Amino acid sequence: MAISRAVSLGTAVLALLPMLWTSGCSKAGESAVSAAEDGGPQSISVFAMDTYMQLTAYDGQKSAALSQAKDEVERLEKLWSVTDEGSEIYRLDHSGGEPAEISDETAELIAFGMELNELTGGAFDISLYPVLSEWGFTNGDYKIPSEERLSELLKNVDSSRIELSGNAAVLPDGMSIDLGALGKGETGDRITEIFRANGVSSALLDLGGNIQVIGSKPDGSPWKIGIKSPWGEGSVAKLEVRDCCVITSGGYERFFEGGDGEIYWHILDPKTGYPAKNGILSATVIGKSGRLCDGLSTSLFVLGEEGAKKLWRERGDFDMILITEDGRLIMTEGIAGEVSLYEEFSGLETEVMSRD
Ligand code: AMP
Ligand code: MG
Repeated sequence: MAISRAVSLGTAVLALLPMLWTSGCSKAGESAVSAAEDGGPQSISVFAMDTYMQLTAYDGQKSAALSQAKDEVERLEKLWSVTDEGSEIYRLDHSGGEPAEISDETAELIAFGMELNELTGGAFDISLYPVLSEWGFTNGDYKIPSEERLSELLKNVDSSRIELSGNAAVLPDGMSIDLGALGKGETGDRITEIFRANGVSSALLDLGGNIQVIGSKPDGSPWKIGIKSPWGEGSVAKLEVRDCCVITSGGYERFFEGGDGEIYWHILDPKTGYPAKNGILSATVIGKSGRLCDGLSTSLFVLGEEGAKKLWRERGDFDMILITEDGRLIMTEGIAGEVSLYEEFSGLETEVMSRD
């Protein structure tokens, strides 16, 4: 089937009014640092994990924090890249069913992915990689796979079959994993630790639309984060937060239009191998742990409105904002007071979920 268009619309969440950004973007593998002389903010932009990351520290040992953060991002990318032959994930994916040795931190992130798989009844699955690859979402060479091919590939999708024992991992032969739906959130958590250890108490981390903030803005006011419109440019709503992560998964982030006029996006339902289409256009998760918010945003997108609401009711550790195809913005009570719709989107129907 002919593919008429391939588009990537970039980030889901926009940080509003950062005090200082580096000008332009650095190329892959490069980074740029900009510094203000007088104790003002310092920023760095790094291209890693297939995304532009912009980190800004407003106080503390800013230079040290930024340079350690950059080293950490590069180290984690080397550890978890699916394409770098030296990475632990690459070795594991090419281990042919034999035990492979992995570090504690890789084992821990895989274990976390497996927990999410269980928690979501299989909606989240780190072993979808071969299916994503078949669709071309891993390299931009998009195509619609045949149903036969998908059902063949789905036989090897089930992360609960991964065996983890200390530093040994065994993937069933034919299975490959990718930590892409968790890695940026985890990286944000590591950067947050590094910043704090360097005395940074006010910072904004934008990891390709995954926003993690430390403290409040230097003037003590909350950070203002835009929740991106899934229908095009701009933001639907503004969210005011301190010390937390705001992570969005949206179909608009990476998709292509098939020759059949359908839109096919990069978040798949592991039960079918097809893009998860259930009426949700974006799922934003707000909480303290980047990796949890990252994993959950992808999960809620797959689970759909009812599944997402059920999971929220079962747990007490996150807030969420769902934007639906039929023009509703559903938010949970813990965050509702911090959300304000922008004028152009004032017609959206809002719904606040409470626990009782
Ligand atoms: P995120 O931007 O965090 O929502 O992650 C999206 C990425 O996760 C996609 O580009 C895929 O690589 C991967 N992915 C897609 N569907 C799933 C799924 N159901 N479970 C886990 N990872 C997925
Ligand atoms: Mg995610």
